[in-house]
Amino acid sequence: MAAPPRRVALVTGGGRGIGREIALALARAGLDVAVAARTRAQVEAVAAAARGLGGRALALELDVGDGESIARAVAATEAALGPVDVLVNNAGIAESAPLLATAPEVWDRHVRINATGPFLVTRAVLGAMLARRWGRVINIASLVGLHGAPYVTAYAASKHALVGLTRALALEVAGRGVTVNAICPGYVATDLVWSAARHIEAKTGRSFDEAVASMARINPGGRLIEPAEVAAVALALVRDEARNGEAIVLDGGAPAQEASMARELQFHNPPGLMKAVGYTHGVETRGGRLLFFAGQVAKDKDGRTVGKGDVVAQFRQVCENLRTVVAAAGGQLGDVVKLTIYVLDADEYKRQGKAIGAVYREYFGRHFPAMTLVGARDLYDAADGCLLEIDGFACLP
Ligand code: NAP
Repeated sequence: MAAPPRRVALVTGGGRGIGREIALALARAGLDVAVAARTRAQVEAVAAAARGLGGRALALELDVGDGESIARAVAATEAALGPVDVLVNNAGIAESAPLLATAPEVWDRHVRINATGPFLVTRAVLGAMLARRWGRVINIASLVGLHGAPYVTAYAASKHALVGLTRALALEVAGRGVTVNAICPGYVATDLVWSAARHIEAKTGRSFDEAVASMARINPGGRLIEPAEVAAVALALVRDEARNGEAIVLDGGAPAQEASMARELQFHNPPGLMKAVGYTHGVETRGGRLLFFAGQVAKDKDGRTVGKGDVVAQFRQVCENLRTVVAAAGGQLGDVVKLTIYVLDADEYKRQGKAIGAVYREYFGRHFPAMTLVGARDLYDAADGCLLEIDGFACLP
C-alpha cells in the first residue's frame, strides 16, 4: 500500500518565538513545513533545524502586511512542497500605548498585520483545502483578543478581529473537512514580552526583571507560558478533526508539564478499511483526562423512565444525561471517544435508525467516536421500560 501523503504546513512568523516552536513541533510530527517571516536569517535557521528532524522544509521571506508578498510565499510553498494542508497564522506584532498616544498608523499597522494578514493568507490557501476536503487553519490570537487589557487598544482590537474571523469561518466551512480554531495565550516567554518589558522599563523606571515578573503575575498561573505549550496545543488541533471554531485559552493556569500534555486525539480511518460512516475505526488519545461513564439510561433524576416504549425519545434522554455527566467533568460531547450502545431490541433500534441519527447529530454534531451497538435481549425487566443503555469513555482536554 502506498504511504499516505505527507501533510504540508505553512507557519507565518516562524522565524522565532511561538512560530519557531510550532514549526519544529510540526516537523517532529512528520509534516513538511514552510517557515515564513521577514527576517531571512531566522527563517533559514528554523527551516534548517526542521530538515534536521527528517522532513522537507522551506525558508520564505514573507511580509503578511503585503498582499503580493503573501501570493509569492503561497506559490513558492505549493511549488516546492505541495498545497498547504495546515496554515498557522502566527505572525503578529504588539505595541502598547494609551489610546490618546496611539497614532492612526499604529492602529492601521496592527489591523493590517494581525488581522488582514491572516485573512489574506487564509484566502490564498482555503480553496485548495476545501477542494481536498482536508485542512487546518490555526490562528494565534491572544487572551487580549477575548478580554482586552489596558494600553493595547490597537493590539486588542486586531486580535478580537482574528477571533471573529476564526469563529465565522469555522461555521462557514463546518462539515467540509476543514477546521478553523484560535489559540489565545496569556503572556508567553518570547521576544515580544522581552521588548514589552524594555518598554515598561523605559516608561516607568521599573527594572526589566520587575516588568517581566509583573506580566507573569497577570497570567492566572502566575508564570510565563512556554512557547512549547502553545506548540503542543497547535499540534493537537492538527490531529483533531472534531474541534472547530474554538478559541482555546492558554493562561498558564495548569503547571507547565500538564499544559504541555494538552489532549491530542488522532482519528484512525485507514484507507485500506471499509469507509467509516457514522463511526470511527479507531481513536488514539494522548494526554488529557479520561472520563469513564457507565449505565446511562433514559431515566430522569428521580429514577423515572422517560419515553417508555419509544426508543427515539429514550435515545434523546440518554444523550441529555450523557451531556450532563461529561459537562460535570468539564468536557463536552465532542470529547467522547468510545461509545457502546446496548439495546433491548436491535431490530426496532435499526428501524428507527434515521430518527436516532437525527438526535445523534443534534447532540454530537459531526463527531463520530468509535462506536459499538450490542443487542442485549434480557438487559432489563419489561416493567422497567428501559430500551437502551450507554457506556464508554471521553478524553477531556
Ligand atoms: P515574536 O517572538 O516577536 O515573533 C513574531 C514573529 O512574527 C516573528 O517571526 C516575526 O518575524 C513575525 N512577524 C512579525 N511581523 C510580521 C510580518 N509583517 N510578516 C511576517 N512575519 C511577521 O513574538 P511571539 O510571542 O512569538 O508572537 C507570535 C504570535 O503570538 C503573535 O501573533 C502574537 O501576537 C501572539 N501572542 C504572543 C504572546 C506573548 O506573550 N508572547 C501572547 C499572546 C499571543 P519578522 O519580524 O522577522 O517578520
